[in-house]
Amino acid sequence: MRQKIALVGIGKIALDQHVPAIAASPDWQLAATISRKGSVEGIESHTDFTAFLVLRPDITVVSLCMPPVPRFAFAEAALLAGRHVMLEKPPGATLSEVHALAALAASKGLTLYTTWHSRMAQAVAPAKAWLAGKTVTRAHITWREDVRKWHPGQDWVFEPGGMGVFDPGINALSILTEILPKPVHLTGATLTFPENCQTPIAAALTFSGNVSADFDWRQTGPQTWDITVETAEGRLDLRMGGNTLEIGGVPVSGENSIMGEYPALYARMASLVAEGQSEVDLAPMTHVADALTLGRRLTTEAFIL
Ligand code: NAP
Repeated sequence: MRQKIALVGIGKIALDQHVPAIAASPDWQLAATISRKGSVEGIESHTDFTAFLVLRPDITVVSLCMPPVPRFAFAEAALLAGRHVMLEKPPGATLSEVHALAALAASKGLTLYTTWHSRMAQAVAPAKAWLAGKTVTRAHITWREDVRKWHPGQDWVFEPGGMGVFDPGINALSILTEILPKPVHLTGATLTFPENCQTPIAAALTFSGNVSADFDWRQTGPQTWDITVETAEGRLDLRMGGNTLEIGGVPVSGENSIMGEYPALYARMASLVAEGQSEVDLAPMTHVADALTLGRRLTTEAFIL
């Protein structure tokens, strides 16, 4: 039987990915939405989350799709009200608040799932399997996209806690931290801030183990979401955000579509709830926090979204 779930924060990602993924899921039934303005046709909608929690005790799982800064208050209220919680990426505005949520979920025997949708991209698992047991000699991420194309009108990305170019960059870091056979740590960063923005629009990162990353939100035309990993046994290229894989320059798996990522997240949430488990992995966000701690700041011209 399909379990009832509520979606909170009906904006771009909820409508693009969460609603179709739930509609196609054998595990879930979208029973309500909670959003100040957004709604989904044919689905019961609420605007007040506190009232929803009181009115619908039968909906025991909520998926939070709003930006990271307001998300903690919703997640805490949901856990205190006995609901299992699924968090969009990044799982919070700070590491501490996610640790607090994890402790609260554990104390109440509830599931907390910090999702990383890019880890569910089709070629990530085969890439991880190919790298297992190999020695990485170099790795580089190139993650360059056009913020105006992907985040129209979303001013929160340039406000404190919005993460700037790390909003997409953390997707690359979620893949990197999944596939590398040995963990790495950040050793340096150069962060480029438009003079009118609170968060960076570009970042160059270096890590231990000869690993580096280049994130830029000013790329118009073709978009680039590539990770190259070199080993003594050859080279691996993940392209299209982890959806296609090349070994030694030869395509071996995947296709250019992200449509499998969110169905896989909802299947994982169903397993976690059924097993009474949580999954909380802060490795990608730790690298971002380290970059914001250690980064050198450059200032560039003002940017209007
Ligand atoms: P969004 O469209 O700007 O916001 C989603 C919804 O959250 C809004 O429509 C709004 O709904 C609600 N919201 C916004 N600010 C709020 C606040 N202060 N308090 C309460 N609710 C608020 O953002 P999005 O693009 O969907 O991104 C949301 C999250 O998904 C982010 O963490 C992002 O990194 C992640 N994500 C986005 C994408 C993408 O392509 N955009 C892809 C993957 C993951 P109401 O006004 O109706 O309340």
